[in-house]
Amino acid sequence: MGIQHIITAENPILRQKAKKIHHFDPSLQKLADEMFETMHAANGVGLAAPQIAKSIRLFVAEFEENKVALVNPEIVKAEGETLGTEGCLSIPGYIGENIRRAEKVVVKALDVRGKPIKVKAEGWFARVLQHEIDHLDGVLFLDRLDRPEDLHEVSDDEEQALEEAVNQ
Ligand code: ZN
Repeated sequence: MGIQHIITAENPILRQKAKKIHHFDPSLQKLADEMFETMHAANGVGLAAPQIAKSIRLFVAEFEENKVALVNPEIVKAEGETLGTEGCLSIPGYIGENIRRAEKVVVKALDVRGKPIKVKAEGWFARVLQHEIDHLDGVLFLDRLDRPEDLHEVSDDEEQALEEAVNQ
């Protein structure tokens, strides 16, 4: 296993619609494990495969008691609306405020073995799932800012303080 390099916003891979996964074998589990490892090393709460330059529909996320690796995820239900602050491991040094997301989501997906699963989430974890699914569609939080002044540059110290909470 190894820590992968996380690419940043100027890389066009982050703007592609990632491909569906049809083939399930142990290499997918290994990739998910590497993504968890990479995410932890970067103090993130979520990481999508395109962020390590693999344009496939897989992401990992971990927050409190929730830990998931989801393949071909789809939001099948979204309820409510909430504004919140997000960072992105692919947009270092910046955070976005007042980013609008659904308060609750139900996500249908496959696990790394190809078995169907459903994840219900609300609040912060629902936000993380929506942020990661956006990555699979080539969408960044920058695209979801209602007002340009909601994008803020953060210093190293501030980033360190925020990092664990917001980086995805
Ligand atoms: Zn991100």
